[in-house]
This record gives sequence, C-alpha cells and structure tokens, in this order.
Amino acid sequence: MRAEILSVGTELLLGDIVDTNAVALSRAMVELGIPLTHRVTVGDNRERLLDALRAAASRADLILTTGGLGPTPDDLTKEGIAEAFGDRLVEDPAAADELRAFFARRGVPFAANNLKQALVFESGFALPNPHGTAPGAVLEKDGLTAICLPGPPREMLPMLENHVVPYLRRRLGQTTQALHSKFLRLVGIGESSASERVAELQESENPTVAPILRGMEPSFRITARAEDRETALAMVEEMEARIRERVGEFVYGVDTDTLESVLVREMAARDLTLATAESCTGGLVGHRITNVPGSSAVFHGGVVSYANAAKQSLLGVKPETLESRGAVSEETAGEMAEGARQHLGASVGVAVTGVAGPGGGTPEKPVGLVYMAVTDGDGIRIERHKFGGAREDIKARSAQAALNLVRKRLLNL
Ligand code: AMP
Ligand code: MG
Repeated sequence: MRAEILSVGTELLLGDIVDTNAVALSRAMVELGIPLTHRVTVGDNRERLLDALRAAASRADLILTTGGLGPTPDDLTKEGIAEAFGDRLVEDPAAADELRAFFARRGVPFAANNLKQALVFESGFALPNPHGTAPGAVLEKDGLTAICLPGPPREMLPMLENHVVPYLRRRLGQTTQALHSKFLRLVGIGESSASERVAELQESENPTVAPILRGMEPSFRITARAEDRETALAMVEEMEARIRERVGEFVYGVDTDTLESVLVREMAARDLTLATAESCTGGLVGHRITNVPGSSAVFHGGVVSYANAAKQSLLGVKPETLESRGAVSEETAGEMAEGARQHLGASVGVAVTGVAGPGGGTPEKPVGLVYMAVTDGDGIRIERHKFGGAREDIKARSAQAALNLVRKRLLNL
C-alpha cells in the first residue's frame, strides 16, 4: 500500500490556515508503516481537484483527503472522487438520521442542503463523526482506497484515530510491521558535512537514515521496520553504531535531548558546577541552561558583562587586556571565563565575547567574529568562530558553540 494525502481548501492555498491535518495524517502513515510519497494541496475548484485526484491515483493506491465535506457548494471532495473514479454517491440512511438528530439536539432548523453531507460512495461506507455534521467516507474500488475526512481538526483527528487507523490496520492485517525511530542530535558540524560523512548509510532502505534539521542542529532520524519491535530496535541500534563511527564526536544526544539538558546531566554526574560570562549573547547561554529542570544543581550564575567597565568590575578583566587586545579577543574571553569561575565560585567557567552586528564590525574584527573560552582552573581552552547570519542568528550560534565548548571540555574531545 502506498499513500498520498490531498488537502482540499482554498484557505490552505491562501495561507489563511496551516495544514495541520496533513501533518497528523503523515504521522499516522509513519506509525502504520505505510509509505507516503506525496502531499498535495488543492483549492476548492472542481477541475483542479479532479486533476489532483487522478494524479494521486496514478501514484498511490490509498488517497487520504481532508476538507471539502461540508454542505456548501464549494465542498466538492466526495463529488470529485465519485466523478474521477466512476462511482456514485448515495444517501447513507444512518448518516442522514445522525444529521437530523445533530440539528435537533442543538435546536437548529434542518436545512435541506445538509443532506449532501450524508452522501457516501456506493462502493464504500461512512465513518461516523460525533463531533460535527459531515461524516467521513471511504471508497473501495478497483484496488483504490480513498478516505475522505472533514477539515476541522477537532472532527478529523478523532475520526483518524478511532476509525481510519483501525480500518487501515485491519486492511494491512498480517503485514503490519513494527516501526521504530530514533533521532541522533548533532552539534559542531554543519548539516551538509554531517550528511556527507554518512552518505552511503543514507542509501539504506531499511533502516532508513534521514538528515533532519532541528533549529540549527543537524539530526539523523533512523527508522527501522521489522516483524517485531525487538528486531526493529536492534536494527536501529546497529545503524546508530555505524553512524557514530563516522560522526560520533558530534553526537551530543538522542531523541528529545537538548544540548543544555545533556550538559546539565553530565556536569551533575561529575559533580561539576558552571558559571557564565556573556557579552554578545546577552545571557542566552544562562537562559538555555536554566531552561533545564534541575539546573540549580549545576549552575551557579552568570554575568552579562556587555560594557568594558562591567567586564572589569564584575569579572576582573584587566584594563590592559581590553586596551591592547580589545573586548573581542582570545585574551578577554579567557579572563572573562576565569573571572566568572572565581567570582561565582564554580568549578567551570565559560565566556562568550563577539561582534553580533549588524554594525560594529572592522576589517580585523568583522561582524560574526566570536571568541569563547572555557576554564576549569587547570587550563583554559579558547575557540575563535566566524558566524554568518543576522544578529539573532549570531547570538544563537554563539550560545550553541559555547555550550558545545563546555561539552567538549567535559568529554575531552
Ligand atoms: P472544510 O471541511 O474544507 O470546509 O474545512 C472547514 C474548516 O476546517 C476550515 O475552514 C479550516 O478552519 C479547517 N481545516 C480545513 N482543512 C484543514 C487542514 N488541512 N488542516 C487544518 N485545518 C483545516
Ligand atoms: Mg473547505
């Protein structure tokens, strides 16, 4: 079985609403292990709907539609399917009764055009809709299955879960397979280089390896399909080991891990504490650390030392350093990190100083130049980065790299 999703509604094309139904349907296909090859959006227009349906049927044997089941003339989905695939619409007596009862319960007069919603395919059946007026409709004809679902998510989602998924599971029968996915989260490497290093693994068909960008972080999703869950888990694990052989030093965590959550966990496990000194990131590193529940076990605090005077008075950065090397320099970063560590009584200090732009760049110190330092009292490690992007991108990348610098220090990478 191969699926295609067709979202119907001019409001989707206009960008008035976001197609959350297609996302839910996609996830359901992944869960069921049904390959989904296309997701198409079409407006409330008969010709284009017919085109889209015919194209879908040429590529897939399961078509899932959402939208266009209502009573108004622009609701055309079932009519379109009947026309495209040579079926007839007939009134479903139970659905018609349901409709009348729905209106009676609300004390609203029953307009005749509503009965259009009780029409279902002659070669098919209705799916009940306890949350609205338009039932769903399934067509089973000449090897093609089309499932029409209502547009409003509060009607569509329960119908998907309570009727469509069980129906498809029955259809798949014995061929239902276990599916298991795992995400590997990477830091300190670009998406394209990461992808290049595992290029041949991405050709694997089972498990599949897909590069996915989460924010600025490259990730790999490994998905295995097998007879049972244990086998799928083992296949994912084996693929994970092969990916780690190639990019292991960049893999900071898995699934829902964040860089900061891993850092807090690893520091807590080693009885280490952290202090931050931030210039261009304006507290972003501290913000991310304190997003982690339980970070108080690790994080002593931070200084946002934006002005040179603050770097001197709050962190003890030497005036000579600021004069001779400048605020954006290796030396200043190092003194900031050591100052934070000592003043805040932490075992590890991390500092960031750079030019976030868009102004303030010079030929020697261009926009995006950022120094960061980590120190544990025994030694100091400094990195120089040159980030691209707008001001907020540079801040975000700087914070990410600073967190990664602490991680690398911890792991001796
Ligand atoms: P319809 O059944 O096409 O008349 O859609 C009724 C309403 O459901 C729309 O006005 C939207 O608010 C919502 N809706 C329709 N399609 C979608 C979709 N694909 N994703 C999320 N909401 C939708
Ligand atoms: Mg519509």
